[in-house]
Amino acid sequence: MQPSMFNVRVPLDARDDIFLMNTLTDAQLVVSSDVAALLDRTAAGEFIESAASDDQREALDLLRDNGFLVESRAADRLALDRYLAAVKGDTSELNITLLTTLQCNFACDYCFQGDHGDYNLHADKMSMETAERVAVWFERELDRVRPEKFVLTFFGGEPLLNLPVMYLLAERARRAADARGVALYTNIITNGLLLTPQVVDRMLPFGLNGVKITLDGDKDTHNRMRPLRGGQGTFDRIVENIRAVAGRCRVAIGGNFDLSSAASFPALLDFLKAQDFGDKLVKVNFKPIVRTEPLPAKGIIPLMPVGASGAKESLKGTCMTSVGSGAGAACDSCHTMEDQMTLIREETQRHGFPTNSGVPQGMCHVHKTHAHTIGPDGSLYACPGFTGQAALSTGHIDDRRDSWRESALEKFERLHPWKECGDCAFIPTCAGGCVAASQSQLGDMNMPTCHKPSFESALIALAHTAASAAN
Ligand code: SF4
Ligand code: SF4
Repeated sequence: MQPSMFNVRVPLDARDDIFLMNTLTDAQLVVSSDVAALLDRTAAGEFIESAASDDQREALDLLRDNGFLVESRAADRLALDRYLAAVKGDTSELNITLLTTLQCNFACDYCFQGDHGDYNLHADKMSMETAERVAVWFERELDRVRPEKFVLTFFGGEPLLNLPVMYLLAERARRAADARGVALYTNIITNGLLLTPQVVDRMLPFGLNGVKITLDGDKDTHNRMRPLRGGQGTFDRIVENIRAVAGRCRVAIGGNFDLSSAASFPALLDFLKAQDFGDKLVKVNFKPIVRTEPLPAKGIIPLMPVGASGAKESLKGTCMTSVGSGAGAACDSCHTMEDQMTLIREETQRHGFPTNSGVPQGMCHVHKTHAHTIGPDGSLYACPGFTGQAALSTGHIDDRRDSWRESALEKFERLHPWKECGDCAFIPTCAGGCVAASQSQLGDMNMPTCHKPSFESALIALAHTAASAAN
């Protein structure tokens, strides 16, 4: 037997205990330092099992049962391959992100889409006719995959700029899910400017599970980062809209920061805490901005490649709010920003808001066969990060067969950025980071974008929280 390559550990110095986690089995244990020493002696080949005491045998059984001890490195690798294949082929959930439009009514500082120049004149918007065809595609996919759960997320651009399409598809999804006994969860990711109680009330019968709204710092900072085209601030109106809908549906706050805005987030958290809707927020989570174009020196948040650097290419199309929202939630290589990420997460926790732990939670949608993003023209994509790149469309709702789509699909089916990650213990939950960021920043989707320092610092916080809960 030997320790699994997926073990991570954090010493809990104040109590002479060790927090152990196995990222493949997701087992978490708080053990005495003796038990951790047993793992080390096993690794060094110094432990003779036949001479073990009853206590040691009991500890070994516990470690083995939870995946901390394995037969060999080959067994670990095989278990990883099986796990990745199972996640990829999972049919329990059909997950669709639908872009009602690529138009946006904001002119965000960090986004070159939206209400800049004449972008909105040419940006795609889904027609009702395409929406009807998408609804038929929903039914077909539900019959084909037979999931227990259908998760439908409306996104953009700004999804609320195309309400007729959103209402039609939410209603048709409800009907299709009900007819098949499938649980429907509908979500909206919006900038919040057009969010009203009327929109929420209309969506509630269609399985509305939650609305996620973006705030990029305190009032002044948000207004600088996310203005209207004329430079007018949007903070006050968004906050009033949140207040108006907070009692009606689950509301989460997301946000993006860079070096120029990070320091304003504690003030935003103070502000949110003081609001009458503060205790109704189901999640508050902030992440660094993924820049996609050559940047001025200040505020750059480059990604950290594992290996050589490659060509850069614009992400295009999708709202920058979303890119990196899964495995790539903490996207930077600069240690200053790693510190900022940790600081903001700790501040969010200190304010008592539910938030992500910062330890990656599992493979993101790009790796899942039954997770798709649908663009305004009915094109299918592997995830929202690729929606503006037609050449990387993986199919179409009308099943048209284009050789370039088939070749893109093949590329996504063979994704393997984690193969560059050696023996990293985070592979089962990170799988090489955000593939959209790899493609846009490094020009190669099989080159990992690594945030390990951020994961490691988040793991320390998770260990202390788990240890206190275990007391
Ligand atoms: S990208 Fe980094 S943290 Fe993620 S699996 Fe690879 S080496 Fe580990
Ligand atoms: S590849 Fe990146 S943008 Fe796409 S789902 Fe994964 S984390 Fe999100």
